[in-house]
Amino acid sequence: MNDRGRDAPFDARTLLTSRTDSLREANRRRIIRAVMVTPGTQVSIARQTHLSQATISAVVNELVQEGVFVVDSGEGERGKRVRLGPVRGAAVGVEVNHSSVTVAARPVGAADVEYSTVEFGADQSGNLWFRRAVRLIRETVERTGLTSDHIVSIGVGIPAAIDPRTSRITQVSSSLGWNMTGDPRDQFQHEFSNVPVIVDNEANLAAYGEYVHGVGLDGHETMLYVKASVGIGAGLIVGGLIFRGRHGIAGEMGHLAMDTDGTVCRCGNRGCLETLIGGIRLLSQVREAYAGYRIDSPQSLESLIERAKGGDPVCRRVLTDAARVMGLALAKVCNLLNPEIVVLGGELGMAADLLLTVIEDSMRLHALRGMFDPEFAPVRVVGSELGRQAGARGALSFALQVDQTIPA
Ligand SMILES: [Zn+2]
Repeated sequence: MNDRGRDAPFDARTLLTSRTDSLREANRRRIIRAVMVTPGTQVSIARQTHLSQATISAVVNELVQEGVFVVDSGEGERGKRVRLGPVRGAAVGVEVNHSSVTVAARPVGAADVEYSTVEFGADQSGNLWFRRAVRLIRETVERTGLTSDHIVSIGVGIPAAIDPRTSRITQVSSSLGWNMTGDPRDQFQHEFSNVPVIVDNEANLAAYGEYVHGVGLDGHETMLYVKASVGIGAGLIVGGLIFRGRHGIAGEMGHLAMDTDGTVCRCGNRGCLETLIGGIRLLSQVREAYAGYRIDSPQSLESLIERAKGGDPVCRRVLTDAARVMGLALAKVCNLLNPEIVVLGGELGMAADLLLTVIEDSMRLHALRGMFDPEFAPVRVVGSELGRQAGARGALSFALQVDQTIPA
């Protein structure tokens, strides 16, 4: 099947290209993809692929004989880890934010991920951010020792809702330069014409990253990931899958109507959660408090958090008030969804040590009590483990595991 020389590595693109339409071939590709996302035991491959143990065992044996897979021969479950043999290919993930783009890339058989970030995002007019993102993808892949020709998948998270059936944007904030009819997947596909590209909401992909590589490693049936940054989004994982809803709008927590007489939001509604605790609002509260005094106000959410950690009483107060409101919003969401675990990500996730207790106290005050009953494994509220890398890392793994045809 491979026209490779005796010692040359397998070409990942060839392994993932469909030879026939048979179910057997499809299962084989799914298992290869699962091991590319994360090496693991046959049990963990079953959890990822939803295939039977018998199927997995047969395919793993076949791939071990071919030399595509290697099984570590240690004792116990962990010892029998299935990993990739010499296979050459690169997987890429991109997180597009309002004011930054982060790219993650790694060889499909390696654990270490290369990250690059530019402070230049979707709020910058026209297509400039896109050109920067394309250049950053090529540069980051080259840092892994591979080239753009080796890319097998690109996942892109963008700050917009995406229709899961068509990959088109269904809802985008008017503060972005995109028009509603734009199709970011087409743009990337045009640039990387022989690589499958998947586009999804950036909070969904961050949730996926946290589920596969971070907090979710402990095994959770349902996980709510909140990305609290300049905007506030959320991703919901149910049984290992991203829950998107019919229009891809599920999880737009920042636009929960909290105060119908409140400030008009960038979405056009009034009193959304984002108008109360979005990054821009938090920064303006600090600016107001220090107006007229010879104290510099923080210019970014990150520096506001740093100042709060350093003891600045105004920054601290603004953040703890925000945490109380976040707790109220989470109580509403949890009453509706009852997740097993809530993960605080985005910039506010970096202040988890300051905020989690306040958030949880506020949730307890407003959510149904059963969720916090010590008799029934209460809902856990934790900080993100992957931090700012969750989105790009999740985009990388999500696109890699989807069995999509590689364009010829
Ligand atoms: Zn809104």
